Amino acid sequence: MAFLSERSYEGAILIDHRASPGTAAVPEGTIFESAIRVCNHCQRNVIVNPNRTVPLDKCPKCQMFMCRGCAAVYHRTLECFTIAELLDACEAGHLERVLAKRSLL
Ligand SMILES: [Zn+2]
Ligand SMILES: [Zn+2]
Repeated sequence: MAFLSERSYEGAILIDHRASPGTAAVPEGTIFESAIRVCNHCQRNVIVNPNRTVPLDKCPKCQMFMCRGCAAVYHRTLECFTIAELLDACEAGHLERVLAKRSLL
């Protein structure tokens, strides 16, 4: 069984404002480049702060990256609930029951 490194799950984002008026986050004349991760629980894309010093939230059960919102839910419920399980529950017509159990409704 092959094991993938943490970085193998990363994507990349590049915002080039060298020839645009820019934004507050990426001002005119600059380039922003960073890694992105996809939350295994909700599929949210999260830009990884390149200056981050603390480790990213990782679900102890599925061993994958979690966004802050899903990490907060996990610490309250101690339940791992991946997007695949959410879609399965939706398809089976159990979505409201599952979300109520997780206190999301
Ligand atoms: Zn999430
Ligand atoms: Zn999980």
